[in-house]
Amino acid sequence: MFIVHRSYIIVKIMTNQAEMPEGFGGEGFFATKISSVVGLARANSIWPLPFATSCCGIEFMATMGTNYDLARFGMERLSFSPRQADLLMVMGTIAKKMGPILKQVYTQMAEPKWVIAVGACASSGGIFDTYSVLQGIDKVIPVDVYVPGCPPRPEQIIDGIMKIQELVKNEPLRRRNSPEYQHLLEKYQIG
Ligand code: SF4
Repeated sequence: MFIVHRSYIIVKIMTNQAEMPEGFGGEGFFATKISSVVGLARANSIWPLPFATSCCGIEFMATMGTNYDLARFGMERLSFSPRQADLLMVMGTIAKKMGPILKQVYTQMAEPKWVIAVGACASSGGIFDTYSVLQGIDKVIPVDVYVPGCPPRPEQIIDGIMKIQELVKNEPLRRRNSPEYQHLLEKYQIG
């Protein structure tokens, strides 16, 4: 099931686009840990959900365009349905009224899932130090990677995604069941 779902990775390995995990190889065989294979597959077939509310979203459009071509990472399939996405990319100013909606989108995503705060607004409220703007999305959901800038250039967004890939690749298979992660979710009152 997993291999079928993530079959794209097989093509990537065959075309030498993905780095081989550590392991033992010989004529006609290669052996490695299951966690390395799963990490490799996950890291190279991330499906992002773009939660774009303002200018940073435009930079993301440039990142998806031909010049920067996010598809190189196996990410051309954007998902606007939380249940079929595993990377939440929050780009733009988030009003406090939108906080619960953002949280709902996050909780609807299946595990394992990761979050990037793209730009100053999503990371910290940016220049909008006002009563109505959320001073960083980490007030309502946990964040894995912060991308600085107002707006960040597409290169910075790609750098943030590559940081997520590193995280995904090296994360233990069961990290999401770990007491630390459970504690983090409890802190955010996410069941
Ligand atoms: S960080 Fe700057 S560019 Fe991005 S949404 Fe905020 S104001 Fe716009």
